Amino acid sequence: MILIDGKKEAAELREKLKKEVLELKSKYNKVPGLTVILIGELAPSKIYVKNKEKSANEVGLKSEVIRYPETVDEKTVLNKIEELNNDENVSGILVQLPLPKHIDKQKVIEKILPSKDVDGFHPTNVGNLSSGYESSVPCTPLGCYLLIKKIEPNLNGKKAVVVGRSNLNGKPMTQLLLKENCTVTITHSKTKDLKSECLKGDIIVAAVGIPELVKGDWVKKDAIVIDVGINKTDKGIVGDVAFKEVSKNAKALTPVPGGVGPMTIACLLKNTIECFKRVQK
Ligand code: NAP
Repeated sequence: MILIDGKKEAAELREKLKKEVLELKSKYNKVPGLTVILIGELAPSKIYVKNKEKSANEVGLKSEVIRYPETVDEKTVLNKIEELNNDENVSGILVQLPLPKHIDKQKVIEKILPSKDVDGFHPTNVGNLSSGYESSVPCTPLGCYLLIKKIEPNLNGKKAVVVGRSNLNGKPMTQLLLKENCTVTITHSKTKDLKSECLKGDIIVAAVGIPELVKGDWVKKDAIVIDVGINKTDKGIVGDVAFKEVSKNAKALTPVPGGVGPMTIACLLKNTIECFKRVQK
């Protein structure tokens, strides 16, 4: 079984991006800029943002974090986004989720210019992705896609099963696999007999949030299994896939932690560079 080393793959991707940033700098005399807006004091959000800033600096992007207290009003945030939309030194804007309840998440997402939407959440990017046009793609499914392609470059005709249909993970993952000519089944909490659906998959991507939901006997021999889940349990952090059991059947499997997670931030940097390049065209 191939243990997919997300840390190594992410480090390789960051190295590639670092070189690309240097090339862009010599070509355009400027580097892509990523601005992150962080609202409130949620510990996981603060850690994510710190890691994003660190990785962005590592590859040579210009990075900035704008911090607001939990009590900031919606208008202040929308005005700041407007200002960043008009700032030509800012290639990508990300507003760290979740937001406080008094701020309308969808309004915030839609305020970001689609050309600067490095998270790929703006309806224009969602529509472009599903229509097969150029778009920013949400970072986690993009990371999963790159890991799958590394194991199996030709996905033509493969059967893929995506477990979970969130806008963040399951739906964009489905679109990426469709684009690669997979036959995709997307499953969710109302799916009947999830086991038999999973057993059809040459590729399984699990993005659910239920510890070890996908069992060893749900996975056909030599399937590629990508585990997006991050679940805190008494045993520590575990994924949505029963790792030990599934590793006996799978051809390749991502561990949790150290699988999909590291690719997510690397893909954010990739998206920022892509946004910069599209504007220079
Ligand atoms: P989400 O928005 O809560 O969506 C979960 C999806 O799973 C929903 O579509 C839900 O179906 C489906 N589901 C729930 N119970 C199910 C069941 N018993 N059988 C089949 N499907 C079921 O979650 P998310 O944001 O996509 O996140 C999923 C997991 O990925 C979480 O553990 C999260 O922490 C993790 N995550 C990891 C990363 C990373 O970088 N590695 C990034 C983001 C998220 P319904 O639509 O019917 O409700």
